[in-house]
Amino acid sequence: MADVIWCKKDVGGKPCNTVNYLDPYCFWNWEGKINCAECGTVYYIHTIQGHMYRGPDEKQGEKPDLSPLYADKPLEGYKGYYPGIKGKTRPYECLPRHIYLGKADMVKFSIRGRPVRGWRPQPPSGGLAGQFPYKWDIQKLSPDVWKEYQEKKKKGEVKDW
Ligand SMILES: [Zn+2]
Repeated sequence: MADVIWCKKDVGGKPCNTVNYLDPYCFWNWEGKINCAECGTVYYIHTIQGHMYRGPDEKQGEKPDLSPLYADKPLEGYKGYYPGIKGKTRPYECLPRHIYLGKADMVKFSIRGRPVRGWRPQPPSGGLAGQFPYKWDIQKLSPDVWKEYQEKKKKGEVKDW
């Protein structure tokens, strides 16, 4: 985190005591208004290279430019606001592209058309982590891949280089 805003605003006789986290990606060099995720108090801040240069100064009745990414209440255990709560925190938009969020493809043949070992399920006889360090009896262990390999050979899809 670049910095935090520990909100001490008096809410109903008790301090708000919410820590609003300023993530460096958005707030490293930033000037504007940000809301407290719990009580909604708007603070003006000016950060330069991750340091709070000015603020946080309360701005009553003004609208925030940005929300914190998340906030929590360290004095109340795990209570907090996670990313993407409307009007409180910003959504987290740093996930990898959707094509990278699925399952890995099982590759059975190398780019030269030769069978590879890194697919599953491996038989229990393979031992720990399914490894066959010196002998990979593909014909016996995976007759279907063996058949596919023979067909690839016939079609001339297996090369050395
Ligand atoms: Zn607050």
